[in-house]
Amino acid sequence: MIEIADPAQMRAWSRRERAAGRRIGFVPTMGYLHEGHLHLVDRARARADVVVLSAFVNPLQFGPGEDFERYPRDAARDRALAKGSAVDCFFAPPLETMYPAAPAIRFAPGPLVAHLCGPRRPGHFEGVLLVVAKLFHLVEPDVAVFGRKDAQQAILVTRMTAELDFPVTIDVAPIVREPDGLAKSSRNVYLQPAERRAAAVLSDALEGAHLAFDRGAREAAALTQKVRDTVAGQPLVTLEYVEAVDPRSLQPVVAASADTILALAARVGPARLIDNVVLGQGLSADVRLPADSVAPA
Ligand code: AMP
Repeated sequence: MIEIADPAQMRAWSRRERAAGRRIGFVPTMGYLHEGHLHLVDRARARADVVVLSAFVNPLQFGPGEDFERYPRDAARDRALAKGSAVDCFFAPPLETMYPAAPAIRFAPGPLVAHLCGPRRPGHFEGVLLVVAKLFHLVEPDVAVFGRKDAQQAILVTRMTAELDFPVTIDVAPIVREPDGLAKSSRNVYLQPAERRAAAVLSDALEGAHLAFDRGAREAAALTQKVRDTVAGQPLVTLEYVEAVDPRSLQPVVAASADTILALAARVGPARLIDNVVLGQGLSADVRLPADSVAPA
């Protein structure tokens, strides 16, 4: 595994690989790697000849009062985990090389950020799209893999690449979950043991709504209320939102269908966690880590 910090070297490496006829797979992350990220690496490897993983905590996607400063970072651990996986190139650019000056140009994602995390994290997706566009220009991947864990992000990136004619295919991977259903997240490290146990109510609530959908429930208001009721039974968890949206427009639906995304965000102790389910699929479409799995050290 080669390690690159300099953006110009990153592009040079990618161009050499492409000139040698190799397809480039790309997994952008903010580091503090876990099994969810490593699953994306495996998918990238299955779709390309070489895999680039970037680890960069992008300040532009954090709002004032959010956790940019305390976001977990451990470059040595990330490097070791990447090395033990199918990563060929580990790209960790220092902040000042990515943003030598405060960027003047911003993306305006419009109606796709009118719901879900959009209104709750003003500027977040503008920052995400900006860094993804920059990383795509530096890595020049053939295929980039994103997790459905961040469903709104994956849908926005897919739209951006289509509308701006980026020559990259976006692959969206299922959510990797802990044995109790909690979606893997770098932010799970913020949770105290009782909070960690309580957080499983989020995936339980989503699965409950999926089962209701399976039994014929279609009214979105009833399905979201079911999630609210389940989460309300867990005092350590405070729901921020739950919405049932169309996967193309990201607008709320009145009547749910099989492709409707039921998405939520919640506060658990100091952590803000997100999760979602495709109503026609349920949690069985996701990857469940076995009970005896050992978390990356
Ligand atoms: P992050 O480092 O949290 O910005 O995530 C980097 C990429 O990994 C994004 O495409 C995320 O959607 C994806 N990801 C994070 N957690 C998971 C998970 N539990 N399952 C699948 N993908 C994930």
